[in-house]
Amino acid sequence: MNIYGHIKKANNELSVIFNADNLKNVKNELILQAIVSSWLFLKKFIKNIRPDWTQYFSNRLENIIAEELIITNDMLSDSFRQYERMINEREVKSYIYQYIKLMETLLTFNKPFEESCAICQGELFYFTDLVNSIVFKECNTCGAHFDPLTDIRLVHKGTQVRPSTRFELLNERIIEL
Ligand SMILES: [Zn+2]
Repeated sequence: MNIYGHIKKANNELSVIFNADNLKNVKNELILQAIVSSWLFLKKFIKNIRPDWTQYFSNRLENIIAEELIITNDMLSDSFRQYERMINEREVKSYIYQYIKLMETLLTFNKPFEESCAICQGELFYFTDLVNSIVFKECNTCGAHFDPLTDIRLVHKGTQVRPSTRFELLNERIIEL
């Protein structure tokens, strides 16, 4: 099977997320399962293009716990639009970059229709700095960090950072159940 065959298979696996009868009821476990299945088809190609990200993402998939994820309806709608673009993409490298972006949108908490970077209007994703024990928002375009609640710009060097968990987001009152 050539790379286009692999891409087709990966899209097929992901379609489970977006073809759910009711997108709003799709469970985290199902989303994770679809992501892992799609990843198996793409891993070796992505490794050639983005070895650093491949390492990071393999680790993340190994350690991720479905109950720790928050995947909101807005995150699902936003990723559905990305998925629709991906399935029509014919250029391999562009496809890979779109796949990476889709993984970010689904697996790192963000508020796609509510907020954007004050400096460049880029998208903001929520991370936890494990050394300083803080949750912060990071712009995926200019890299600026912000306080999640006050939007004040933060200057800190995160050496141990990972996407924020449900518990952390609740604890900081960024989300409410
Ligand atoms: Zn920015």
